[in-house]
Amino acid sequence: MIFKTGIQLLGIMVLGVTLLACSGEAEQTGEQSAAQPQQTYEWKLVTTWPKNFPGIGMVSETFADLVEELSEGRMSIRVYGAGELVPALEVFDAVSAGTAEIGHGASYYWKGKAPEAQFFAALPFGLNGEEMESWINYGGGMALWEELYEPFNLIPIPGGNTGVQMGGWFNKEINSLEDFRGLKMRIPGLGGEVIQRIGGVPVNLAAGEIYTSLQTGVIDATEFVGPLNDLALGFYDIADYYYYPGWHEPGTVLEFVFNKEMFEALPGDLQLIMRTAAEAASSRMYKESIAQNTAALQTLVEEHNVELRQFPDDLTAELYSVSQDIINELGQSSEIGQRILDSYRQFEASARPYQDISIEAYNRIRAQQR
Ligand code: CA
Repeated sequence: MIFKTGIQLLGIMVLGVTLLACSGEAEQTGEQSAAQPQQTYEWKLVTTWPKNFPGIGMVSETFADLVEELSEGRMSIRVYGAGELVPALEVFDAVSAGTAEIGHGASYYWKGKAPEAQFFAALPFGLNGEEMESWINYGGGMALWEELYEPFNLIPIPGGNTGVQMGGWFNKEINSLEDFRGLKMRIPGLGGEVIQRIGGVPVNLAAGEIYTSLQTGVIDATEFVGPLNDLALGFYDIADYYYYPGWHEPGTVLEFVFNKEMFEALPGDLQLIMRTAAEAASSRMYKESIAQNTAALQTLVEEHNVELRQFPDDLTAELYSVSQDIINELGQSSEIGQRILDSYRQFEASARPYQDISIEAYNRIRAQQR
């Protein structure tokens, strides 16, 4: 028996469709005229991002375009920005209930539904972007993520990766843990729990709500993603310092969620098209990220005179220590949490010897030559 990967199968299918489309005789064949008209679908995709938001918001647009084209119009998907159909932070519930068939966002937004979901977005001082993609897709993470979402009638599929994020926007210099005391900061996920543990006040706000909250003093500081997205939201207008690096999100995995019942009721080839389009859209966004962030950082610094600051080393060491406590506590909080943590830690430890002598060693020797 010959096994083929999803991509190979899809390639063969698309090739077949293309050949038929290119051949004037194809429509005359008995096979074609005997075929039943195929059912068409119109699905809705709700996102946690403003409509057409650069980078992270475009994953869904790319995905929808690819699905429509690959399915030759059998599946069309309308993408809704945050608030157009449901509010940003209700995407999980909306897709679970079938109000929309698909969602796009990040799993740490759903910590109120399943705290363990945070493992599949980013852990403070955890796996970087490439390592996360590898753990989820080839290191055991995916099966655990599916198991976690199953009771919610959802299927998760990775939907992009931000790479290392930025540390955030502040209106005062951050030199010690003391500087976080009482600080109201927009920071989701486990990074937010670290901020809480050291005396700050984490706030979970969707993209579209951050600027006004910072401007009016509802929050004192914010992180969001990186130069591309932070430039788009205009934080340079209302904050003095832009800190790095994003210790709290070293390579955040974005997610698609599909209504499980509805997805599984689709014909197999449409399911495969959806999965393949999701993977392609995710990969495209990740590959664009360095080029786009580079240009955006230049704009922030040169045109908007943004002041870059690195978190001091002793502060970073303390944040690291608190992060480990928080991560371990989350893992220990449930049976599945423990299994996810074990899988994550096992991957991290087993990848270390190779990472140390490859990417880490290379980045170090390159930096030394500058
Ligand atoms: Ca972030």
